[in-house]
Amino acid sequence: MKLLVVDDEIDVQFLFQQKFRKEIKSGKMQIMYAGNGKSALEILESIENRTEYLILTDINMPGMTGIELLRVIKARYPELKVFMITAYGDEHYFNTAKNLGADDYFVKPLQFEVLKEKLS
Ligand SMILES: [Mg+2]
Repeated sequence: MKLLVVDDEIDVQFLFQQKFRKEIKSGKMQIMYAGNGKSALEILESIENRTEYLILTDINMPGMTGIELLRVIKARYPELKVFMITAYGDEHYFNTAKNLGADDYFVKPLQFEVLKEKLS
């Protein structure tokens, strides 16, 4: 399983490293990180095996929002799955995200057990 995690909060990166420590160590999981939408798009553009990645993006980010990122990804790479992550209280984005083709939607704090199940 390959993940591209997009979030402006650096803590999220450490959290994924920690929660998927075993999976990363055993090689079952590979995770790349981007701190904003622009670098996420640059990463996707630069890798040839992009279709192997599942994207998990925060919605509230400076610059390009997760919603805008979702729109661009679904236009450029419709085969890619995009999971949205948003802060508690921002659930009003749910319908917009769904209409733009988001494949799943999580509210922070992330429940990694649920996420792991969805990924398996
Ligand atoms: Mg954020």
